[in-house]
Amino acid sequence: MKKSLRILVVDDEETFRSTLKEFLAAYGHYILDAGNGVQALEVLDKADVDLIISDMRLPKMDGITFTHKVIEMERDIPVIVMTAYASIESAVEAMKAGAADFITKPFKFKHILFIIERVLENKQLKEMAVKSEYYKNLSNLDGMTGLYNYRFFKEMLQQEIERHHRYNRPLSLLMIDIDDFKQVNDSYGHLVGDQVLKQISTLLKESVRSCDMVARYGGEEFAVILPETAEEKAIKVSERIVSTTRGHEFKLIEGEAPQNLSVTVGLASFPKDAEESRQLIEYSDHALYAGKKAGKDQVSIYSENKKKSGAQEN
Ligand code: GH3
Ligand code: MG
Ligand code: MG
Repeated sequence: MKKSLRILVVDDEETFRSTLKEFLAAYGHYILDAGNGVQALEVLDKADVDLIISDMRLPKMDGITFTHKVIEMERDIPVIVMTAYASIESAVEAMKAGAADFITKPFKFKHILFIIERVLENKQLKEMAVKSEYYKNLSNLDGMTGLYNYRFFKEMLQQEIERHHRYNRPLSLLMIDIDDFKQVNDSYGHLVGDQVLKQISTLLKESVRSCDMVARYGGEEFAVILPETAEEKAIKVSERIVSTTRGHEFKLIEGEAPQNLSVTVGLASFPKDAEESRQLIEYSDHALYAGKKAGKDQVSIYSENKKKSGAQEN
């Protein structure tokens, strides 16, 4: 933990400010001070501050408004408020406004050291939690496309199926494969192929709602989970994906004419087609394969294919 802090003390009593200042300075801290909220905001405007200790009763601007304003700055500066014991409710209000902690006046100066320590420890813990969440997210993403990776996709699908089982809600799964992608690699090289993968990832994300989950299933295959979406609606989304890709001009080489590409989408729905996640993946993959066989650049629906093949058998 940082030993020497830049602390802003806000209080309208000059003598109180200077004694607190002297005390904290003796512990190696650098103290800035202000007699009211307006002055304090001016100090914050110009100076770097690690922590604020502010009285609740201030002229010109009360402590709660001041705390609000500090939080709004989003500079992550903890505010410790001081309040008289008789008006302890105002401390509760300040905590609601985002204050990090409070101390009741009068207090022994030693106590403020303890509170500062506690506030800084909390801040550090919070930063660590944010960081670990960030790294956790990174490992859920595919490095090249920024989409969710295969591992996370499987986890999410499992979770969604369980949730939808419980609430008896539908969901659909799309398996998407780029048509004749080998040709892109063969004609333009792998690096251009990678650019196409990134561009298609963007098109996919733009074609679905924010609650839908787009993942890179592997190589040049993608999977999209559509929660709360039964087959009929999922067909519409799939058609949008196919037509958006078909209409997109892929700029592969600088100075050369853009290329057209297409994708095939295989669709299966839960609970209509499948009862669990492995089966849902398998059936949407069957549908994808059937769509490729039927000429690519299209939406292929598991239940329709099944109906057709059933009719042929009879
Ligand atoms: P189809 O229409 O039947 O899907 O034909 P296709 O040419 O797309 O054939 P297929 O799906 O079997 O092959 C996909 C190719 O995608 C093979 C592989 O070299 C290439 N590929 C897989 N991952 C990557 C990647 O990360 N970058 C690049 N550039 N190419 C990749
Ligand atoms: Mg493929
Ligand atoms: Mg392909």
